[in-house]
Parts: sequence; C-alpha cells; structure tokens
Amino acid sequence: MKARAFSYVRPATLAEAFDAFAAAGGEASYIAGGQSLVPALALRLQAPECLVDIADIAELRGISQEGEWLRLGALTRHVEAHDDPLIAACAPLLALAAPHVAHPAIRNRGTLGGSVALADPASEFPAMMLAMDAEMEIAGPAGRRRVPATEFFQDLYQTAIEPGELLVALHIPLARPEHRCDFDELARRRGDYAIVGCGVMLALPQEVVSEARIAFLSVGPTPVRARAAEAALTGNRLDGDATRRAQAALSEDLDPAEDEQVPAAMRLHLARVLLGRLLGRIAGAA
Ligand SMILES: Cc1cc2nc3c(=O)[nH]c(=O)nc-3n(C[C@H](O)[C@H](O)[C@H](O)COP(=O)(O)OP(=O)(O)OC[C@H]3O[C@@H](n4cnc5c(N)ncnc54)[C@H](O)[C@@H]3O)c2cc1C
Repeated sequence: MKARAFSYVRPATLAEAFDAFAAAGGEASYIAGGQSLVPALALRLQAPECLVDIADIAELRGISQEGEWLRLGALTRHVEAHDDPLIAACAPLLALAAPHVAHPAIRNRGTLGGSVALADPASEFPAMMLAMDAEMEIAGPAGRRRVPATEFFQDLYQTAIEPGELLVALHIPLARPEHRCDFDELARRRGDYAIVGCGVMLALPQEVVSEARIAFLSVGPTPVRARAAEAALTGNRLDGDATRRAQAALSEDLDPAEDEQVPAAMRLHLARVLLGRLLGRIAGAA
C-alpha cells in the first residue's frame, strides 16, 4: 500500500509551522524523523492532506545545560541519546535506555521529541521522562508552557500537546553524584518492542535510599510510575528485604490488561523480575 497524496511544507520557524498547520484546516501532521509516521502513512492508518516537516526549525535542536537542567531540543535523535557525552553525564538513564530502542537505522533518524510526542506506551523514552521527572516544553499559536511528565502522558497515545502545538524541548533535572540509575527490558528479540521495561533512578547518599523513581513501559495505556514500590524503598537500605517489599508493592502500581500473548499475571511477574534485577545491579555497584 502507498500513502495517500499530500502536500509538503518545510518551515524554518515555529511561527511558520503553526501557520502551515492552521492553513491545512486540521488536516495536517507534523513530521520529525518519520520513523513512526511514515509507516503509518504507508499503511493509511493516517492520511493527512499536508505534512509540515519540522526538521529545519533551529529552535527544536540542541543539547545544552541550563542551570540545574539539561535541555534537549525535540529534534535530538535517538542516536545522540546513546552517544552524546553531556547526555551520558547529566541524564545517564536516557543513555542506558537508548540502545534498546529499535535498531541503528531507526535510531539515526528517530527523534526524542517524536517518540515522546507519540507516547507509545511500549516506548522507552516516554517512560524515562517519568523516571527522570522531566518537563516537556510545548509551544503553539496561543503561547508556551512546561508540563511535568506526570501530567504529560494522559491516555493511550494522548498527551498534553493540543492539535497544532509542537513539543519544543525536553528539560531533565541534572543527575546528582548520589544518584544511581539503571534500565532494562524484556523483549523477545533485541530491538523488538519490550514485553515489559523499567527505568530506576535512586538517590543513595549514605547507602539509604533518600529518593526513588521507578517507571515502567509496556504495562498499560501510558508509561507508569511505580509509586508504591518507590515508597517501599524510600528511607531504607537497598537490601534484599527492601527489594522484596518493592517487588510485592508492584501489584498496587501495575494493572496490565489481559493479552493473548502475555497474560496480565505473567506481565506483572516479569515486571517484578525486572525490578529485582535492576535493584540488585544498583546495590551491587553502589
Ligand atoms: C521497525 C521499527 C521498530 C521500532 N522500535 C521501537 C522501539 O523498540 N522503541 C521505541 O520507542 N520506538 C520504536 N520505534 C519508533 C521509533 O523510535 C520512532 O522514531 C519514534 O517513535 C518517533 O520519532 P520520529 O522522530 O521518527 O517521529 P515521527 O515518526 O516523525 O512522528 C511521530 C509522531 O509524533 C509527532 N511529532 C513528531 N515530532 C513532534 C514534535 N516535536 N511535536 C509534536 N508532535 C511531534 C508526529 O506528528 C507524529 O504523530 C520503531 C520504529 C520502527 C519503524
């Protein structure tokens, strides 16, 4: 199958992009790396009349430290999350998750903004925005705002981005020296979407967990923060008992849907296995 015919514009500024989107009367789609949108066009799951290509908008690029935050322009590519030294130093969880996203050819073109805006619940980067307590900068004809990750992911493929608006940048609090983090996922084959994935970010100042953030992917319609598991760890030494309590608490946090291929009970079990593995690795390395 081939995509339906569409017009194509490549604006140089945000204002031009908003105008081009509005001119198409709601029948436009923004395109960034095209790694999700182009297959959807080819399968006619989406058939916009106009594609507004945001690749030339300079404001959507760049990786920089701004005070206590790392700013990643929405057009930052997956491969940069993997290779960039500033990301490795300031947002190591992103660098750990990046190799699990798809394959090198897709990582060369796919953007962080595209992945987070699409909000596929099986995607690695949206869940890591939750684990890192990131904020999403959104701009549109009516202005600009920053939305915390906890409010950004609203439902299946539904985010705080309104039609016509663009995700401009991701703002991530800098990792501090006492932070320890790790990421892993279980997939049938490396590069496949995960059956379940998890990112963990702990503050471990003196072997006691003073802050815990745990986010799962592929366990529901949105990425999920595991608040009960976080509470089970906070204020405790990171030992076997605390790990078991956190694993048990996941039944309060996760409510995966029944699925022919992966029953809900199995997905919950795998989430516990994954969390235990990650906490064990962090404890071993601390
Ligand atoms: C074979 C294959 C395997 C894959 N495996 C994985 C995987 O394991 N894990 C994973 O996470 N992903 C995977 N992907 C998806 C891939 O990571 C995509 O690149 C990513 O989801 C979207 O980024 P993009 O820049 O290509 O966005 P596009 O495809 O260009 O756009 C995706 C959507 O986001 C919107 N959009 C893009 N940028 C913005 C913006 N700045 N503001 C507002 N809206 C925007 C577009 O309008 C569109 O609706 C896979 C893709 C393929 C083809």
